[in-house]
Amino acid sequence: MSLGFSKKLIDSLVCQQDGAPLVVLEIQQENEFVIFSAKLKCQQCDKIYNIQQGILNCLLEQGKMKQLMQDEVEARDKEAEQYDQRLSVRYHKEIPSTMKTIGNLSGRKVLEYGCGTGRLTTVIAPECRAVLATDFSLISLQILAKKLDNYKNVGLVLSNAVQFKAKSKYFDLATSFQFLEHVPSKEQRLTWLGLVKKTLKSSGEFVSTVYHYDWRKQKDNQNREGKHGSGIFFHYFTQEELANEVTGYFQVQDLHPIDITLPLEAKLKLPAKIAGQLSRVFEKISIANKFGHLLIVKAIKNK
Ligand SMILES: [Zn+2]
Repeated sequence: MSLGFSKKLIDSLVCQQDGAPLVVLEIQQENEFVIFSAKLKCQQCDKIYNIQQGILNCLLEQGKMKQLMQDEVEARDKEAEQYDQRLSVRYHKEIPSTMKTIGNLSGRKVLEYGCGTGRLTTVIAPECRAVLATDFSLISLQILAKKLDNYKNVGLVLSNAVQFKAKSKYFDLATSFQFLEHVPSKEQRLTWLGLVKKTLKSSGEFVSTVYHYDWRKQKDNQNREGKHGSGIFFHYFTQEELANEVTGYFQVQDLHPIDITLPLEAKLKLPAKIAGQLSRVFEKISIANKFGHLLIVKAIKNK
């Protein structure tokens, strides 16, 4: 078996050109709950969108990607296989704090932007009503599809997440984890936040983590922006800056550093779970949390 596109999520889909609903034109392979292979059609412009091996392709209709983005897609595809391993050491510092901030997922419809290989998607999917997860790396989505084999409430979408449009006032929760810092300009980040707001129901919530311009980086006077060795762009956020960007669209309810590693901690070689528990204690201590690798923000849609 494999992962199909959940039928529950078909009505969340819109044309990436004009925002009109997509309708099923022809199904080639399906079961009671999911679609493995089908053609969808825009009700307005008649453009065709394909679901193949359970993954919907929206990338083709999003217009030409800038060169910087194309390079990033290549870099992501290339490192997708190693990605999970690379972040596994910090798994226990990131995931429990993130899930605690998200809160109860039962009955909620979730849109995850920049899902990658699904570090969080695999934790969210078993808890929520349905999750639409999008990323521009097909290889990452294929890895994620294997992890979510046989789930009935997941829809994977190949798209440039920063431009991805979904149905207005549809989702209860929008999320992005270590995504926003890779969007190369403030203007694009704000445009994206506008799209996120639009697809949320009134009082819908937004939870996001980003790279933190933490105390180590400040002390070393590191640049606020740069490129990883792989060629992927990043921006380090201060708390004030993240609050400012989000506040134009949402009311911030919680914003604090997570994923905390104190100086000398590496030398102690603590088991990952213990280090994770310590990290959560340090989150509440204002000097210690300056060492947080990430910032997490939870915000609610402005009326
Ligand atoms: Zn259309």
